[in-house]
Amino acid sequence: MTDKHPADNEIQQYVLEISACEAKIVEHVEACEECKSKVAAYQLLFTGIREQPGPAFDFNLEKMVLAQLAPPKTKRSPENFYLYLFVMLGIALTGTVLYIYRSYVAGLFEGIAPLSIYLIVTTVSIILIALIIDMYKNYQKKMKALNLY
Ligand SMILES: [Zn+2]
Repeated sequence: MTDKHPADNEIQQYVLEISACEAKIVEHVEACEECKSKVAAYQLLFTGIREQPGPAFDFNLEKMVLAQLAPPKTKRSPENFYLYLFVMLGIALTGTVLYIYRSYVAGLFEGIAPLSIYLIVTTVSIILIALIIDMYKNYQKKMKALNLY
């Protein structure tokens, strides 16, 4: 055993990688109380450094956000699809009928009492308002789902 205490960097090496230490240092540290206490202090310090929490975004933020966003995006409600299909069919059918009977259509409104026209306008307005409210509710639901994350 050498009388000289190893330097601090040698003690650190002893703590971090004992196999890389010179035999005489290992021998000294194991026999010397003062060096042993130094080793214990360094061990405590190095463990503390290793156990430090990582930075706030020590995870794949992009991946997490995408994982949260992907399901609502890809999930296309079949309910909505059929609704749009129905609306499109209705418009196409109405257009076709109007085109075929175009010569009658002009005279059609003359024959209908003004009251009926008001009724039709009211009905169409109510349906439109209902559709807009439904769309708005759907939109709110989606925004709410997004805000939850
Ligand atoms: Zn010593």
